[in-house]
Amino acid sequence: NMNIQNEWAQLSSAYQPYLLRTWQAAPVIGGNTLHQGEVHEVHCPYEKNNVVGEVRYATVEQVTQAMDALAAYWPSWNATAVDSRASILEKLADLLEEHRPELMALCTLEAGKTLQDGIDEVREAVDFCRYYAQQARLKLGREELPGPTGERNELFHEGRGIFACISPWNFPLAIFLGQISAALVAGNVVLMKPAEQTSLIAARTVELMFKAGLPKEAVAFLPGDGALLGNVFCRDARLSGVCFTGSTEVARLINRQLAEKDGAIATLIAETGGQNAMLVDSTALPEQVIKDAIASAFTSAGQRCSALRVLYVQEDIAEKIIELLKGAMAEIKIGQSHLRETDVGPVIDAEAKEGLLMHIQRLQEQGKLIAETPMPAGLNGHFVAPVAFEIGSIRELSKEQFGPILHLVRYKAADLGNVIDDINATGYGLTLGVHSRNEETAAFIERRARVGNLYVNRNQVGAVVGVQPFGGCGLSGTGPKAGGPAYLLRFVTERTTSTNTTAVG
Ligand code: NAD
Repeated sequence: NMNIQNEWAQLSSAYQPYLLRTWQAAPVIGGNTLHQGEVHEVHCPYEKNNVVGEVRYATVEQVTQAMDALAAYWPSWNATAVDSRASILEKLADLLEEHRPELMALCTLEAGKTLQDGIDEVREAVDFCRYYAQQARLKLGREELPGPTGERNELFHEGRGIFACISPWNFPLAIFLGQISAALVAGNVVLMKPAEQTSLIAARTVELMFKAGLPKEAVAFLPGDGALLGNVFCRDARLSGVCFTGSTEVARLINRQLAEKDGAIATLIAETGGQNAMLVDSTALPEQVIKDAIASAFTSAGQRCSALRVLYVQEDIAEKIIELLKGAMAEIKIGQSHLRETDVGPVIDAEAKEGLLMHIQRLQEQGKLIAETPMPAGLNGHFVAPVAFEIGSIRELSKEQFGPILHLVRYKAADLGNVIDDINATGYGLTLGVHSRNEETAAFIERRARVGNLYVNRNQVGAVVGVQPFGGCGLSGTGPKAGGPAYLLRFVTERTTSTNTTAVG
């Protein structure tokens, strides 16, 4: 298709120069960039010795300073009309589109995202801004409730106060901005805590927020050590809520800190990890299964909370699936993130790589390898080749392996119910895939499985804003779903005013 070819050509020539820049990030309070705090180098995940920028980490004193500034400004922001707040998000969405090549380059340099991932990431961030702006206009207005004559009852919403938005490195733009845009449009001021690994793209996004017209006092940007800073702001009596996406372990810790703090009882919105399976019965179309399993397990080098970890295949078609999987995995192209032919880039850092390789080595020693992608020579980054092992059950996996590792399990048709119970017993409940041409089977799975997002006869990487609202239950998070109709309502206080209308005039 000529149009797509042209778009690619334009995009990649606009994108290339940004790969050569170096970038800076530093704490920002009330629009002022701060110059105290340690400076850390940022290294490119796909080229080990390439320093792409520097981040000045926020200090504990700056957390208190940020809380003071945010608390002072909140009443003004809360009194700003919903319509004005929504317009800022819409302006920001336009700016993100305008700056797409630059933002894609930052996703690549700092998070090791492929070109396609970079495109998807910017699109998702844009969608979040527009969707929450539209939802705010729709849902956060003043509403008159039905009641007896002589009385007027009105329902309206306002922000809760100060929200801390804590984001992970794997969606350094989309999740970072998704959280913040929701909190802001709902009338909260925001303490922004990006992941340590991806502060540069976050800092650039903050500049665009100001350019879009966001008052500088409405946010404080505090890059740096999550545990150190979180221990201060999660215990601050003035904090009204936390919106967190990251590991289940850290979500629990934050929950405890919030429970112990003085002042308002804080809201926690947490989106956390998963142990995601796909169930394939013998009526499934094998080629379709492979295409969807590969996309679900290896997109973004498996560094998605939704990613497929355990492929359950009914024994009758297991050999066929394994054979196709071997062939398909041999075709995957591992490479540097900025090259167009790359399917799978690096994992985020040396520590992540080491953890994944330990898991791989353990399973390899047990003779469980069934398929792998060849690692090309000459790469100098944190690369882990996609790999698949056959194991006996999801119960053998003790924790989320956040990378390109797929586990395959054979099951007997009569055991389907038990298999679903095993998946439920992990305690996670994020995504589940089903491949079956039997509608009864899909309906049975839908009833029995406890998951947030079920995907039938397709891949399970989809979380399109407003189309597939995303989020899980149990160890996978609190809900409500991001990019869904209930999300904004968790960021507001509902108020009512009841007036006796016969007592006036
Ligand atoms: P992480 O939990 O290590 O870190 C997430 C954020 O929390 C970072 O900004 C970090 O600095 C901060 N943090 C760490 N300790 C803290 C503390 N004590 N107080 C306050 N903040 C603290 O997670 P990660 O490695 O960045 O991301 C990967 C994880 O995120 C995976 O488990 C993945 O499944 C999950 N994830 C979930 C979703 C979802 O929508 N459910 C989406 C993306 C990622």
